[in-house]
Amino acid sequence: MARYTGPLCRLCRREGEKLFLKGDRCYTDKCAVERRRYAPGQHGHRRKKLSDYAIQLREKQKAKEIYNVLERQFKNYFYIAEMKKGVTGSNLLQLLERRLDNVVYRLGFASNRRQARQLVTHGHFLVNGRKVNIPSYLVRPGDVVEPKESSKKLGIIQENIAKVEHRGLPSWMEMDIEGLKGRINHLPSRDEIALPIQEHLIVELYSK
Ligand code: SF4
Repeated sequence: MARYTGPLCRLCRREGEKLFLKGDRCYTDKCAVERRRYAPGQHGHRRKKLSDYAIQLREKQKAKEIYNVLERQFKNYFYIAEMKKGVTGSNLLQLLERRLDNVVYRLGFASNRRQARQLVTHGHFLVNGRKVNIPSYLVRPGDVVEPKESSKKLGIIQENIAKVEHRGLPSWMEMDIEGLKGRINHLPSRDEIALPIQEHLIVELYSK
């Protein structure tokens, strides 16, 4: 499936805020948003007043970029969220958070979601003891996520795990750092998803 392979910092600059797409670099002063706080491109310096539609569109693009999901898949998540009980916007974010690549990132096995996606597609992870190489796999409460035995010594996983305490773990999951095992305690509520996304704007956009 086609994926965006261009410069990631450009996406942050387009949204005018840090989306933390690159891992460690995002926390340093090398971050492109810190250095160049204007949109990319020839007309990036110009300030335009955005229409309501443009504001909603940007919010949706931002969520897609953060979770590294393409349009069609994102829209499918929206339809599923709409059919579920509860607030559609919160349901949407919950679905995105449940993706295996996001969980691998959140547990600290990867420094960003793109790296997590690659680790998952390369077959390094088990869910409840079975290999799962589908990044969009949705985890459930009680699921145990861990690298397979031969991948536990991978330098990249070891390096990332060493930083997990510094980064912090969301309250809806727990991690056995010694055993390299993560567990999903419950599905995340909106309060437990600390992201700068105004999901109601995405709902408004798709409800037109
Ligand atoms: Fe975005 Fe990270 Fe690049 Fe900064 S360093 S612009 S937060 S991807």
